[in-house]
Amino acid sequence: MLALLLPVALAAPDEASGVVTRVIDGDTFEVQGFGTVRLADIDCPELGTADGSKAHAYATSWLQSNLVYLDVDDRTGQDKYGRWVCVAYLAKPDGSINLSRNFNRMLVDVGQACLWDFSNNEFDPASWWGGQIPGSACVKVNSGSTTTSAALFTTPYSSGSGSSSAGGKFVGSVKSNKYHYPSCEWGQKISPSNEIWFSSSADARAHGYVPCKVCCPP
Ligand SMILES: [Zn+2]
Repeated sequence: MLALLLPVALAAPDEASGVVTRVIDGDTFEVQGFGTVRLADIDCPELGTADGSKAHAYATSWLQSNLVYLDVDDRTGQDKYGRWVCVAYLAKPDGSINLSRNFNRMLVDVGQACLWDFSNNEFDPASWWGGQIPGSACVKVNSGSTTTSAALFTTPYSSGSGSSSAGGKFVGSVKSNKYHYPSCEWGQKISPSNEIWFSSSADARAHGYVPCKVCCPP
């Protein structure tokens, strides 16, 4: 009986909880005693842009120093940067979980994030709205472009040739001409939608990219 109940328990929206100690950007934050959380299936504009600053301010206003409950992705757990992929719920004033305050959904509802359904995790973002993504939601499609039509909702992350992290050795941004070791702090700041992966430094240079001066790849 216990064995049957366990998977259900693991999939609960309150698998983990803790106080947010730092909001890194709109969709990434640190939770005391837990680690870094990357909100699942959404994408906020990059920091350093006006929209990125707005998303960061919005997330900070709701999360900083507050208790959150986390539904942790049971399929992949952590992404390639070691961040826990989660759906986050805010707490009620009494400290219990507030299931009507799904923060991933809140970011999309207020236009601070686009939906981006990574098919490699357990979550189905449509379920955040009871099964139907609202037509007003910004939805990111495979090319990294966005649309507000739910009809165009597709799952990205099927690894396209040349742009997948699978087997990639160095990472760059489609918005710059630098390439990095994946461990580089600047490489890690690249939004997943802007990442371009190279199998070798020769591959990167062939695409017109130059080595980052911080991590100094070959
Ligand atoms: Zn670098």
